[in-house]
Amino acid sequence: MQGYIIDIKAVRDDDLIVLILTEDYIHTTYRFYGARHSIINIGYKIDFELEYNTKTSIPRLKDVIHLGFQWIFNNEKLYSWQRFIKLFHFHFKDIDKIDSFYFNALDDLTHKMIKQNSKRAICTTYINFLAFEGRLHTQYNCFLCDKDIIKDISLVRSFMPVHSFCAYSKTLNFTHTKELLEEKSLINFEDDDINYLWDILLQGL
Ligand SMILES: [Zn+2]
Repeated sequence: MQGYIIDIKAVRDDDLIVLILTEDYIHTTYRFYGARHSIINIGYKIDFELEYNTKTSIPRLKDVIHLGFQWIFNNEKLYSWQRFIKLFHFHFKDIDKIDSFYFNALDDLTHKMIKQNSKRAICTTYINFLAFEGRLHTQYNCFLCDKDIIKDISLVRSFMPVHSFCAYSKTLNFTHTKELLEEKSLINFEDDDINYLWDILLQGL
């Protein structure tokens, strides 16, 4: 089975609780002496087996093989990737069965990140997440004052549209923001704006 490590918690001495996002399920697993194995790291894609024991409720993680990314030694890319993946644990809190959309989107993203700027690629994937979950807003009324947004548009958490003067936030280009929300495209966003979107994303998925 293959999956992405979305959370690692140390327990007892060197043992770990490792959360793994697979195609249809988020597995909570137990890894003995895990800390000694560098193949266990947030964001890593692994091939693994689970061993179920009737005495414990959590299966044991074993036969782990690290499936590397082409950009694994690019620190900037790996760091952005890991910060993004860390958000999944909170997003899927108390959820174990998931749609294959997420696993497939992450697979696609790891390929896109070979050539693309990592923050831009991740933000685009996130927009697709919002659309998939029915959370992408294409009504231009301000989340804070509820009035129509004709100009001075900005985005806050979950890329919800607001007046920049209501949220005291960065004013974005209206046409580009419409492209983001309606066409799921960031093509016309400057790096500066991508950094702004990135900071919003880090507030939570
Ligand atoms: Zn407003």
